[in-house]
Amino acid sequence: IVAREWHRDDTVIDIGGVKLGGSSVQVIGGPCSVETQEQMQLAARYTHEAGCKLMRGGAFKPRTSPYTFQGLGVKGLEYFRNAAQQYKLPIVTELMDVRMLDTFMEWDVDVIQIGTRNMQNFDLLKEVGKVNKPVILKRGMSATISEWLMSAEYIAAGGNHNIIFCERGIRTFETAYRNVLDVTAIPVLKRETHLPVIVDPSHAGGKSWMVPALARAAVAAGADGLLVEMHPNPCEAWCDADQALTPQELKDLNQTLAAIAGAL
Ligand code: PEP
Ligand code: MN
Repeated sequence: IVAREWHRDDTVIDIGGVKLGGSSVQVIGGPCSVETQEQMQLAARYTHEAGCKLMRGGAFKPRTSPYTFQGLGVKGLEYFRNAAQQYKLPIVTELMDVRMLDTFMEWDVDVIQIGTRNMQNFDLLKEVGKVNKPVILKRGMSATISEWLMSAEYIAAGGNHNIIFCERGIRTFETAYRNVLDVTAIPVLKRETHLPVIVDPSHAGGKSWMVPALARAAVAAGADGLLVEMHPNPCEAWCDADQALTPQELKDLNQTLAAIAGAL
């Protein structure tokens, strides 16, 4: 279902009136995690002022250590929903557990994010395949392109064809940055599938100063959008502080990307 041979034209996904795929480049901005109502209110304002039409934020966080902040859970969905509403920003947030799917529907999450660590959680994929919400499917940190496509197929087989691929960097021998952004995956996926392909330069580089260069490369290589971490005050972020852009940096990045997208 996800293969280009089944659908020649690029699929454009409608997210509350915002189009992802086709000729535009959508930048999804926002913090790694939902922290407080005030932080989310500021983040929503800055995301909007930077020119983004979609917002990200995690209420359920897949942390390496069980002793670090795990996300606010349902309270986080409430804070996120309230803050984004003011600027009419559709919300993107990660689902880790099938038992939370009904709660996501109740809080009217606009885009369900399936994180790297769950790319092959087949039961989770089957469940999001049954709902009528766009899904961002992040690439597993050691997943091949064909494994990634098959995971999307699990979602599509259930009837939900609104799938967005997100390249977020893969594991290699290199330790100088968090992950290696696989730019090659962008043209390969665009050829293999009709679905939109976005890139997360934040989790790829792991440092905020790397984000603009990776983001520019992604857009130049044909990405349909980006997922970028921005925090009202990066030094104070509860999670992934090193890679968060400031509001001004996100605004500047959006302007540069618009120029690159316009030149393609
Ligand atoms: C995230 O986007 O918040 C995240 C946890 O990313 P990943 O699943 O790519 O590590
Ligand atoms: Mn993060």
